[in-house]
Amino acid sequence: MFAPRRVTAVVWLLAVTVAAAAQPLDITVSHHARGLFPGEAVLLRVEASGPLTEVRATAFDETVRFYEAADGVWHGLVGIDLGVEPGDHDVALRIVPATGTAIAHIYTLSVEHKAYRTRQLTVAPRYVAPPPEVGERIAREARQQAAIFATVTDERLWRGSWARPVPGQATGAFGSRSVFNGQPRSPHSGADFRAAEGTPVTAPNAGTVVLTGDTYFSGGSVILDHGWGLYSYFAHLSKILVEEGDLVEPGQAVGHAGATGRVTGPHLHWTLRLNGARVDPLSLIEILKD
Ligand SMILES: [Zn+2]
Repeated sequence: MFAPRRVTAVVWLLAVTVAAAAQPLDITVSHHARGLFPGEAVLLRVEASGPLTEVRATAFDETVRFYEAADGVWHGLVGIDLGVEPGDHDVALRIVPATGTAIAHIYTLSVEHKAYRTRQLTVAPRYVAPPPEVGERIAREARQQAAIFATVTDERLWRGSWARPVPGQATGAFGSRSVFNGQPRSPHSGADFRAAEGTPVTAPNAGTVVLTGDTYFSGGSVILDHGWGLYSYFAHLSKILVEEGDLVEPGQAVGHAGATGRVTGPHLHWTLRLNGARVDPLSLIEILKD
C-alpha cells in the first residue's frame, strides 16, 4: 500500500518539472529607427514573457550588448555603417531566460538604399594635397583613431537620452560625398552643426576623454568613450577644456567650437562611432528620445 503511493508522487513531481522547463518563453523582437539605411543607428528591443538574465546579438559581424530598460524591455544598439550594402542582414540574437537554456533567435534588418548628396567645398590647398612632410603625421593620427574606435570598453557610461552638443542646427551634411577643391574624398561621416567660434561644446552623454589634441585634418579634437563601443569625436575646436582620462558628465563643456583643420568656416563636427560603424549622431538622438 505504502510503496506505490510514493512512486506515484515522485512521477507527478517529475512531470511538473518537465512541463515547467519546456514552457516556451514568448519572445518579441522589434526595432526602432528613423529608417533602415546605411548611416543609421537602430534600437533593437527584446520583450519576453518571463525574466531574462542576458541578451546579446551579432550584427554586421559585431557583438551587440543589451541592457534592461526601465520598462523591462531589453535594448541594444546596432549601427548600420555608411558602407553597408542594401539588402537583408540577419541579426543573430542569444536570449538567456532566468530559468532554462539560451534561446537563439534571428531578426532580419532589411537595409534600403539611400542616395546621399555630393557637396563641393573649397579649402586651403594643404588639406587637399598635404605637403610630404606631414604624411607620417597624417598616417599616425589615422592609426591612432582607428585603434580607439576598435576598442570596446566593458562599462556602459551612457544613460537615457542624448543631447545635441551645441544649440545650433545640423546642416544635413552627414554621409555627403565630399569634393574638396574638385578632388573627391571619402564620405563625410559626421554631423556638422552651426556654431560660432567660442560656442561651448557639451558632452551629449557621459563618457571618458580618451583623446585630446590638435590633428591635421580635424584640428582641435576631443574623443569621448561612452562605453560598449560607442564614441563621440568632436573636431575643429578652438579650445579644449578637458584632459585625457577625465570622466565627463552629460552637458559638461569639453571645448569651444572653432575653425581649426580642414574647414570652410567655424562649425562643430560630431562623428559618432557605434561598434566601428559610421552613423549619423542625429539618428541616435532620435531613437533614444525619452
Ligand atoms: Zn564635418
